[in-house]
Amino acid sequence: MGHWSELSSWLMPTGAVTEWLTLSALLDELDDSDVPCRADPAAWWPDRKYLNSPTTNAAVMACEGCPARDACLAYALAADEREGVWGGLLPDERRKFALPKAA
Ligand code: SF4
Repeated sequence: MGHWSELSSWLMPTGAVTEWLTLSALLDELDDSDVPCRADPAAWWPDRKYLNSPTTNAAVMACEGCPARDACLAYALAADEREGVWGGLLPDERRKFALPKAA
């Protein structure tokens, strides 16, 4: 199980439901060995003081080979995920891609 699976008990922003369903369906089709964060979910949820640690950097790099990367990042951007590594990007990196909120 990857860190994304822990979302089931969270409140999900309405605008992220489609991206979440797409990501979930894709992840359901993949073997655990194809999705790096399933092997060590804690590495994808670093405390903010460890965002530049070797463990976090390795998690970011591991995302590069994940077949769910695009869907994972699309969900994280749609949901405005503020914590963790999603789609190979850290929170501050994702913030640069964030869409302006509707007024
Ligand atoms: S892109 Fe990274 S965080 Fe997203 S599912 Fe794949 S390994 Fe996990």
